[in-house]
Amino acid sequence: GYRKGGYHAARPGDRFAGGRFVAQRKLGWGNFSTVWLAYDTLHSRFVALKIQKSARDYAHAALHEIELLSAVAQGDPTNSKCVVRLLDHFKHVGPNGQHVCLITEFLGDSLLRLIRYNRNKGIGLRRVKEICRSLLVGLDYLHRELGIIHTDLKPENILLVSTINPAKDPVRSGFTPILDRPVGNQYGGTVISFSEKMLKMRARLAVAKISQRRVSLGGVAAEFEKERNLDGISLKCKIVDFGNACWADQQLAGEIQTRQYRAPEVIIGSGYSYSADMWSFACIAFELATGCSEDEDHLALMMETLGKMPRKISSSGTRSKDYFDRHGDLKRIRRLKFWPLDCVLVERYNFTESDAQGFADFLLPILDFTPENRPSAAQCLKHPWLN
Ligand code: ADP
Ligand code: MG
Repeated sequence: GYRKGGYHAARPGDRFAGGRFVAQRKLGWGNFSTVWLAYDTLHSRFVALKIQKSARDYAHAALHEIELLSAVAQGDPTNSKCVVRLLDHFKHVGPNGQHVCLITEFLGDSLLRLIRYNRNKGIGLRRVKEICRSLLVGLDYLHRELGIIHTDLKPENILLVSTINPAKDPVRSGFTPILDRPVGNQYGGTVISFSEKMLKMRARLAVAKISQRRVSLGGVAAEFEKERNLDGISLKCKIVDFGNACWADQQLAGEIQTRQYRAPEVIIGSGYSYSADMWSFACIAFELATGCSEDEDHLALMMETLGKMPRKISSSGTRSKDYFDRHGDLKRIRRLKFWPLDCVLVERYNFTESDAQGFADFLLPILDFTPENRPSAAQCLKHPWLN
């Protein structure tokens, strides 16, 4: 978190790199960094500012990312290879230490947000194909021309190219850059002269506007939410986050990738190469086309082992409608293959009938879909299976 060695707590109006870049609002974060929309006063454009956590390992990872992204930029002078463009980098000293900062081109929402906004349908095969084409151009470039394995492809590391570019289209994005830190609120500061006061008033208004979420920069998903369709929205996308990427001939980590996108050879530790990225790519394409998330898969697995979830439970959540239709069936996953726990234990895990029966008797009441029905720890302690 925000402590020594951790994230840098930036605020709108904060300046970086000797005043050149001015923080506007937070765009996102990952395990290693926070990412801000920033205004580049030198070139009058919006950029993304990635502020790495300060501890040594994070700094090291950021320097590695800079090395790889520099090669990416060098080999792609026209910036057409569907990989994020590194524009600059520097170090920033804050209360939590020294943070390596990367300036990259500003992009739009991630595929994760796109999937979430469009949960009910998948995004349509035409659009899946467009996204696949972009991703494959990027992967072909990284793999064949540069010798880089990304190793952490997943929806949150793929960003749509923003159709609303505040740098090119400030009117449509409705955004005035904040050039100074706001005063008279939690941010503190003193007003010196009248003109400066005016400037700061404007900055404060801009902050108020942002905090009310009236402006959405690069919000492809937000735009979709408003218009309820994606027609006319370019689905070009770019690969970001090279914090774990590596040169294929200098592999560091044995365990790569995020669980749901992890290739089998990585799980069994038999060595990996570019094809590990291809595995993740296929998982992402599946997710986009079916709209089926790991959460829905997880629910399906539960019901195959434990039976159908009672309507009272399945309809009771704020996200129920995302997953269940009005009959209490999963919306996207049809034809569950019911396979009770004791059978799983016998047929798959080689338990004897009586071991399976005893263990299932112990576990099944705890795996009740209705939370109030589950026995407490104290009640479980009294179960005959333990005694
Ligand atoms: P980490 O290594 O900490 O995961 P990322 O590079 O993945 O950092 O960035 C974290 C998040 O910040 C992304 O998932 C995305 O939401 C946002 N982000 C990163 N780069 C950009 C960019 N160039 N434009 C817009 N948003 C970005
Ligand atoms: Mg990331």
